[in-house]
Amino acid sequence: MLYLGIDIGGTSIKCAFVNEEGTISHPFTMKFIKGAKQEETLIKLGELIRGNVKAVQAEGYEVGGIGIGCPGSINSRSGICCFSGNLGWNNAPVAEMIRQSTGLPTKVTNDANAAMLGEAKFGVGKQYNNLVLLTLGTGVGGGLFLDGKLYEGNEGKGTELGHMVIERGGRQCTCGLKGCLEAYASVTALISDTKKAMKKDKDSKMWDFVKGDIKKVDGRTSFECAKKGDKTALKVVDDYEEYLTLGIINFCNIFRPEAVILSGGLSNQRKYLTDAVEKKLAAKDYGFKRTPEVKVLVSALGSDAGVVGAAALFIA
Ligand SMILES: [Zn+2]
Repeated sequence: MLYLGIDIGGTSIKCAFVNEEGTISHPFTMKFIKGAKQEETLIKLGELIRGNVKAVQAEGYEVGGIGIGCPGSINSRSGICCFSGNLGWNNAPVAEMIRQSTGLPTKVTNDANAAMLGEAKFGVGKQYNNLVLLTLGTGVGGGLFLDGKLYEGNEGKGTELGHMVIERGGRQCTCGLKGCLEAYASVTALISDTKKAMKKDKDSKMWDFVKGDIKKVDGRTSFECAKKGDKTALKVVDDYEEYLTLGIINFCNIFRPEAVILSGGLSNQRKYLTDAVEKKLAAKDYGFKRTPEVKVLVSALGSDAGVVGAAALFIA
């Protein structure tokens, strides 16, 4: 039996069939049409899925269902994308339209939830029952796997871990609040902090790294120059990890996870990120003395986590 996993993103829609062991096959993608009506995109996606489902059925496979990970506020019970600023969608009946178009059972969840489920069932979180996943990207997304199950909450809307306030009256966040974790621990925040630090230190190696062009600063700039011992870069990275650790301490105290998984582009920094955060966590006693050690892990499925996790909505 195969299940179709779909990961809807603001630039492309990634799709692949996934078997019961979490192995991907027959991938296909659709470009996300910016500015198109949401119904138009879903009709096109439905047609594309139909063709691909037929093709694998012709090879003798059975297709058991379609799981979709979608950014924004998702009601996973009704399968509606209530709002996604990224996609420009409002009350999009995602599950219903794909179900009607394909005749297959269809489930929808938030994209961070899908990544969480993928890592918990088939990725780096396989041996754990209690996990927190944070996606560090444009924003900070989050998913929870508690007592061996994806936590979906009221209306199946998942969690907004990135919007936990860690600084009263702090930085303005995109959500309207001030001082959210996202405003300090997203890649967007890291880039902004890197630029600020560079403007104050014209001798920083980070200027050479971007060949004098501050517009070329990305999430790697500070990390790569910190590895070369640049003091300003080290400070940027340390501040970033300090805020991230603060957020994680709160999650440790609330959810008591066995491990925290970091995903997104920054997780490529591997030990420079996870080891540092793990050390900071330990130095702070995980926020509470004599609590069990919390592992900080890097996503194993990487950019496939969304597709595998969406399909896993159907895999027990
Ligand atoms: Zn916020």
